[in-house]
Amino acid sequence: MAGLYLHIPFCKQACHYCDFHFSTSLKHKEPLLAALSKELYLRRDELATQTVESIYIGGGTPSLLAGKELATLLTHIDRYYAVSPEAEITLECNPDDLSAQKINDLSALPINRLSIGIQSFNQADLTLMNRAHSAEEATKSLALALRKFDNITIDLIYGIPHMSAQQWQSNLDMAFDFGVPHLSAYALTVEERTALHHFIQKGSLAPLEETRALQHFEMLMEAADKQGLIHYEISNFGKEAYLSKHNTAYWQRKPYMGVGPSAHSFNGHQRSWNIANNSRYIKAIQASVLPRETEILTQKDRFNERIMTGLRTVWGVSLSEIASDFGEQYQKELLKNAQVYMDQHLLLLDETGQLTASNQAKFLIDGIASDLFVLSE
Ligand code: SF4
Repeated sequence: MAGLYLHIPFCKQACHYCDFHFSTSLKHKEPLLAALSKELYLRRDELATQTVESIYIGGGTPSLLAGKELATLLTHIDRYYAVSPEAEITLECNPDDLSAQKINDLSALPINRLSIGIQSFNQADLTLMNRAHSAEEATKSLALALRKFDNITIDLIYGIPHMSAQQWQSNLDMAFDFGVPHLSAYALTVEERTALHHFIQKGSLAPLEETRALQHFEMLMEAADKQGLIHYEISNFGKEAYLSKHNTAYWQRKPYMGVGPSAHSFNGHQRSWNIANNSRYIKAIQASVLPRETEILTQKDRFNERIMTGLRTVWGVSLSEIASDFGEQYQKELLKNAQVYMDQHLLLLDETGQLTASNQAKFLIDGIASDLFVLSE
């Protein structure tokens, strides 16, 4: 069982908060797509014994590609990999790409899930973030997409400067009025080397307020719960049949292969990542060289990752699995370090030995998880 990720590194314009790998020039689009197909071929043996249960075409903005270009990539995948007939196949889309014609084209492909980067239904937020789409396009694209696709997730961002509680509530109401079965919501963060960081540094934008983000997160949890959505990962909420197979596999440490510049891969004991540079990626693949770096995970790395990803999910961390996979000493150490948080009801231990985060702890979970890390083997 494995996942396959394809990175399409092109966008119409740079969102002010984004530090993903992308280019706003489409100059290298043709050779890059050829290189993706070739990388799929070159790495065909890596998943030779696995069935591909999910394909995620992300970026960047993969919805910039024409239906034909996406069809070619999917044909290549089918040629070299054993794709399950039930595979979840997701395409990340931006609202400005989703015309009625485009949605028709996409619905004729094996793609069965759309992830739409709405981010906000409010024009002032979209302008502040330099999104390429308007508020009108956000609602229009979603209405059109829901006519052809049942499995839809949208992304929303909260904690945006000047976003009031009422405005955030109206974003949530809008999403639920549309009946979206899955929602990914992220607090706006300031990454270095982004326009947002620059604006805050020079004082033209006020720094982000953590209290605003926390208030929005609490509203999000309450609204999603009222709608019957499962809060299955810190930033992800879905109806039971719509939890993302692809992302769940990441969190459950199943193997995945990432193809394209900057894409990451994981095979259970090592991680690798491709070069984050389109021209150098294309050149290397043309010469049949895989432009990647690899890191072999130590026991400590694997334990710390297990704690971080586990506590971010509804499934938590299983103490018996910690003992069987890492040894009794790791289990003891974990319990000892977790005690202070259990005493404050921030971490909960149930009778089956699952350690999970309480609602109160969720907003702070990355910090709590890192307090449970082991620092030496
Ligand atoms: S569309 Fe997505 S990948 Fe592209 S700049 Fe905006 S947030 Fe980044």
